[in-house]
Amino acid sequence: MSYFDDALTQDLDAIRAAGLRRELRRVDSPQGARVTLDGRELRNFSSNDYLGLANHPALKEAAIRAVEKFGAGAGASRLICGSLAPYHELEEALAAFKRTEAALTFSTGYAAALGTISALVGKDDVIILDKLVHASIVDAARLSGAKLRVFKHNDGADLEERLQWAREVQGPKSKVQGRAPRVLVITESVFSMDGDLAPLRDLVELKDRYGAWLMIDEAHATGLFGTHGRGLADAHEVSARIEIQMGTLGKALGASGGYICGSRTLIDLLVNRARSFIFSTAPVPAAAAAARAGIELVQSNEGEERRVRLWSLIDQLKNALVGQRWQPPVVQSAIIPLLVGAEAEAVDLAASLREKGFFIPAIRYPTVARGTARLRVTLTAAHTAEDVRELAAALNGGAPRSADR
Ligand SMILES: *Cc1c(COP(=O)(O)O)cnc(C)c1O
Repeated sequence: MSYFDDALTQDLDAIRAAGLRRELRRVDSPQGARVTLDGRELRNFSSNDYLGLANHPALKEAAIRAVEKFGAGAGASRLICGSLAPYHELEEALAAFKRTEAALTFSTGYAAALGTISALVGKDDVIILDKLVHASIVDAARLSGAKLRVFKHNDGADLEERLQWAREVQGPKSKVQGRAPRVLVITESVFSMDGDLAPLRDLVELKDRYGAWLMIDEAHATGLFGTHGRGLADAHEVSARIEIQMGTLGKALGASGGYICGSRTLIDLLVNRARSFIFSTAPVPAAAAAARAGIELVQSNEGEERRVRLWSLIDQLKNALVGQRWQPPVVQSAIIPLLVGAEAEAVDLAASLREKGFFIPAIRYPTVARGTARLRVTLTAAHTAEDVRELAAALNGGAPRSADR
């Protein structure tokens, strides 16, 4: 083995010793309530395809039609070889769905965060993040070079202290390169690993009071919350007061890609400055067409029926778990984290559930803080009451946990 592989093997050994080794598991079926994993059919409780759209005939049909009309590949960045119609149709549909002036799509949500945050703030500015925001936002904030501060999870009072601090360091009249220094607050609306909800009204009041900007990541809320699934900002009636609304097309919307919704000016600036948009080949047209079909579907009667079914399955699971081995969260989202604590124990539990025919991921550091490993159960509208009954029985059964949380 070369000295290169020797060095990497040491790294991998350290990862394994910490109980943090990860592996890909091959699936030979579409995503759905059941998946074929390593040749076995398992009940799938791991997916963010909350409305069961990833394998929906309407999305597949839209993707196939786009391939037939626009081909398989995109050719180049949209600024170089022209911008195919499916992206424009998708962006119009997104802006109408989110009720913003405009929208811009990226190849992933991760790329949307990376490109957008660095386009808006730089080294003379301040970013204030909720402690539990997604890795894409943390990476983007670091890349921007802005001064970074973190506020306690969902804690408005703590955010206010950081806003006060920013006001003091920036001073009332200071100007950098001819413009006033900026403060950007970023949070998720539904948190990806805890399933809890941000107090959006309080955050909007605060950022307005301090003249800061607010960016929210609706990755786990779009399609599920608000009228027609517009998101939590819509549900809390603060959508028009939030400068930057981000999300993914790859979760409840059933396809792939990331988006930013906001004013026309914001979108025009991103087209000029978001490096992950400018210097990256456009997504395949089929992805844009599928996402657009997903947006239509979540706003349809069928979308509403799927949301109703999902919320009823969530209630069913929580009721079946209460008072038993696990403490399900009180807040309502499709993400049900079951806290284990020790990394190795979470992995063992996930393995034993897999043996019983249930695919539920063990979520560990660095996705969550060390010592807060958990099983992350997600329900989708593609599940049945019977699926949930069997899941609850499997979770409630078995030997008691060895470690306290
Ligand atoms: C999944 C996710 C993203 C990234 O979106 P992709 O389209 O998967 O790249 C960003 N933020 C949050 C909170 C997410 O859960």
